[in-house]
Amino acid sequence: MQKKGKLLKTLICGGEVSLAVCDMTAVVNEAIRRHHLSPVAAAALGRTMSATAYLCSWLKEEKSSLSVTIDGDGVGGKICAVGDGALRLRGFVEHPDASLPPRKDHKLDVGGFVGRHGTLTVIRDDGDGIPFVGTSALLTGEIAEDFSAYFLSSEQRPTALALGVRIGTDGKCLGAGGIFFQPLPGASEECLSFIEGAIGKYSNISLLIEEEGAEGILAGLSPETPIEVREPYFKCRCSRRRISSLILSLGRHEAEEILKEQGKISVYCHYCNTAYDFTKEDVETIFSKEGKHEK
Ligand SMILES: [Zn+2]
Repeated sequence: MQKKGKLLKTLICGGEVSLAVCDMTAVVNEAIRRHHLSPVAAAALGRTMSATAYLCSWLKEEKSSLSVTIDGDGVGGKICAVGDGALRLRGFVEHPDASLPPRKDHKLDVGGFVGRHGTLTVIRDDGDGIPFVGTSALLTGEIAEDFSAYFLSSEQRPTALALGVRIGTDGKCLGAGGIFFQPLPGASEECLSFIEGAIGKYSNISLLIEEEGAEGILAGLSPETPIEVREPYFKCRCSRRRISSLILSLGRHEAEEILKEQGKISVYCHYCNTAYDFTKEDVETIFSKEGKHEK
């Protein structure tokens, strides 16, 4: 069975600051396995999925959903991550094999992969009919800074955060995730300056996650309320059944036209890198089942 990540939430600073720590190592490894990500692609998608998991942890309903798209001018192209209130996440990058030399400080060049010009867009559907759409301009392409700008400008929720992904020499993820300090409305000046001082200690968050785990990091910050434990994991919504009903909705005529032209119907899911092929016989079965249904 697929391993799951961990997202822990609590309050600190006399209940004035919401604190979350997520360990996304297992989720990032699953993304690497599915998409054959280069190290820098894994770092970019892993950071994006970590912030997406955090955003999803605020969704009210399990079936509410949220998507994040980072569209920059870097070598990696578009980065997309989607999740729901149950913290089932999926995501992809446009160019998973794009690579860049490491930066001078030996870190992966996430900014070069993402690009420094472009947008970060969040679409949130709480199930009440009108999705919320928030967009902000990219600041550095390092993703944590870009999300911080997004929280401030689009959500009016100043949030200090650090994100990180550590990739080993074998291409696997050793530690990934993030830490998020969000002062609640009316938080005191002391709390705000505490956060400002604290966030700087997490510039190497992926190493801390690898060594201490989310629990260890949280324990160091004296949680004041019972810790809410959530388990984000990689799960795509696509399935052969879902695609069968898509083909059904095309209608028999349209489906037969595609078969005539291409010999089969191929549907590709970007989110999990899975191809579904339907032969003439498969399509026939789909429509004949439907015929029986109607009678
Ligand atoms: Zn899929």
